[in-house]
Amino acid sequence: MNVADSRRLASALEQLGYQPTKRPEEAAVIVLNTCVVRQSAEDKAIGRLSSLKPLKQKNPDLVINLMGCLIGVRGNQSIQKRFPWVDVVSPPSDPEPLLTYLSSRLARETGHSHQEKLNAILDGDLILPASEQNKLVSAFIPIVYGCSHACTYCIIPAKRGVEHSRPYREILSEAQTMVDQGVKEITLLGQIVDRYGLDLPEHPTLAMLLRDLDEIEGLERIRFLTSHPNWMTDDLLDAVAALPKVCPHIEVPIQAGDDAILKAMRRGYTVAKYKELIGKIRARIPGVSIATDIIVGFPGETESQFQHTFDLLAELRMDVAHLARYSPRTGTYSERKMVDDVSDADKMHRFRRLETLQKEIATEIHARFLGKTVEVLFEEKSRDRWRGRTPNNILVFVESDENLRGKVLPVTITWTGPWSMVGEII
Ligand code: SAM
Repeated sequence: MNVADSRRLASALEQLGYQPTKRPEEAAVIVLNTCVVRQSAEDKAIGRLSSLKPLKQKNPDLVINLMGCLIGVRGNQSIQKRFPWVDVVSPPSDPEPLLTYLSSRLARETGHSHQEKLNAILDGDLILPASEQNKLVSAFIPIVYGCSHACTYCIIPAKRGVEHSRPYREILSEAQTMVDQGVKEITLLGQIVDRYGLDLPEHPTLAMLLRDLDEIEGLERIRFLTSHPNWMTDDLLDAVAALPKVCPHIEVPIQAGDDAILKAMRRGYTVAKYKELIGKIRARIPGVSIATDIIVGFPGETESQFQHTFDLLAELRMDVAHLARYSPRTGTYSERKMVDDVSDADKMHRFRRLETLQKEIATEIHARFLGKTVEVLFEEKSRDRWRGRTPNNILVFVESDENLRGKVLPVTITWTGPWSMVGEII
């Protein structure tokens, strides 16, 4: 979501006349787009923010914009007091505060208003930054902003505000614009992406959106994340199975494999329901891969409750598991009402056990591709190898002197590991 937000802002800044630079000391404007989903992300953002102070001291004209969840939809006065060298603050997904600040500065310097230009930029379809036009292969399109689910551990609803879907036509037109600018793969984003449209007057669905996007000529692949188990309709699964451009890959977090913990997390489903859903996804979408998210060390999680999560992962054998250690976030229900009573050592130990298990599972799943041919969409070259992904979202590396960017090619897999595969173009 932050990558998509940053790209939108970068493109707007270009339209105002700015150009990107890799060197912070050369910049006239620096935007720090932040995430606070766990303490580690927040610490990183604060560290970066502190490192900007000397630049501002050296160049008082430098504009520093602090954006994203460190600010949140309700603002964050204490952060602004603590870091007075920040000039502009912006809530997540909102380019307007910085653009307004810069255009009024420009108006003071030049003596004429930039309001009309600003309105055109804010209302227009996303134009990719010049450096990415006809280069970017895979792009994100946010379709649901905010979240209203209120899982007890999660800070996102407080920081990103209530759930609201983007208008249907706006998404289709943005997708078309991106394809016109060379994009081959689009990933639709939402905290609960499968709730798309429920808040819109005509109740369009994610399945409808997928069907319309599938018609776009020149678009090769469509993905979406993250789904909540309770909102995955049969219609959605059928659309994924039937539409050629929609990749057979589903991101549907379980978060814990124990009913009491799921209830304390306020996830709204049981382990049995989740297992039933996974069975259905696998039955309806041949060759599907499924990714999940798991939090270990939620308040009160006992060894035996953790063991239920471990056993569930061993049983379901997910293709990917995004693992996190519980991190109390100020203001969430779990932080206010529950005791963070699993020690750091126990959280780490549980994390490592799941990591080891998942490594075995992924190794075994990927090994099945050895000698087989898969379609790879190539994204970029790093060192001497091209990097791409299979429809199942598995990373594949291939050695080639040709320009493979944006091409979908059959690749025979010659080596497999837990996190990636290597192959040869046939
Ligand atoms: N909206 C999606 C959902 O909840 O399923 C994903 C949002 S979040 C950016 C990605 C992951 O971060 C979550 O799935 C969860 O596993 C993890 N996460 C969220 N809050 C957390 C917390 N307080 N401590 C540890 N992990 C957390």
